[in-house]
Amino acid sequence: MNYGIHLEKVFNDVGREPSKGEVAKYIPELAKISGDKFGVHISCVDGSKHSFGNASEKFSIQSISKVLSLLRAYQLAGEKLWNRVGVEPSGTAFNSLVQLETDLGIPRNPLINAGALVVSDVLISNLENPKQEFIQFVRDLAGIPNLNYNEKVAQSEALCGYRNAALVNLIKDFGNINNEVEEVLDFYFHLCSIEMSCVEMAETFLLFAQDGICPMNDKQVIKLENTKRINAIMQTCGFYDEAGEFAFKVGLPGKSGVGGVIVAILPDQYSIAVWSPCLNEKGNSYKGMKLLEEFTTATGYSLF
Ligand code: GLN
Repeated sequence: MNYGIHLEKVFNDVGREPSKGEVAKYIPELAKISGDKFGVHISCVDGSKHSFGNASEKFSIQSISKVLSLLRAYQLAGEKLWNRVGVEPSGTAFNSLVQLETDLGIPRNPLINAGALVVSDVLISNLENPKQEFIQFVRDLAGIPNLNYNEKVAQSEALCGYRNAALVNLIKDFGNINNEVEEVLDFYFHLCSIEMSCVEMAETFLLFAQDGICPMNDKQVIKLENTKRINAIMQTCGFYDEAGEFAFKVGLPGKSGVGGVIVAILPDQYSIAVWSPCLNEKGNSYKGMKLLEEFTTATGYSLF
């Protein structure tokens, strides 16, 4: 399969369409980003790679970090992790509070904000220097020694992070947060601010397409059966209340972030990251979804 030819065509087709939706405005630093950015990169397990548009420009990865923090917490806590966070799709917005009350502070899954805050708490408890050790973990996965947090983005979100503060306070009240709420929020906002380009993100996520083996150092980052589990969570929970729609249209495990990027993988084939900051009403990149839908249709390959 020559993925490059198909990707170039769908990139040009979707690129010609007018942007729909809006860039995320609730985080002031994200509101400054041009909605016209559009880039895509695919890294295949056979070593081939293709980039189009603004694929090398960095942006804050926002909720994509939730998959990487889940990976690290799963490595450290093992199956005990599932006592504190579920694996069911929430069917609600990424920052929703509604289910926490009836679920007694156990978030439905690790890819909504509530779940990622609990995962952050697990990491803080298990790491000596959480921020330094976590960014080093991501650098090693990506094979990029100078990957970093964007302090401006982290501070910008901290200034208006009332909803995340509400989530973590409610969960702590139920006894499912062990550290101080300020420390959990600061760590979570930093995870969201990590900067990567489409190229770097697709390379980092390639391990989920090749049985948990990191392409940078050929190390088994996570066991084969647990790679299956993280991919299943991406498939069922990666797009919040649009997870069904993404499976229906695209048919790949993936994750979106409000910075306007979507990363998706096809096991044993490729990892792909597409960035277009204008979001639909569910908070997922409009053109990102469109491109991936057309790409899996054009290639004829998806999970289904
Ligand atoms: N930092 C964002 C938030 O917590 C991440 C949300 C997202 O990317 N969906 O609101």
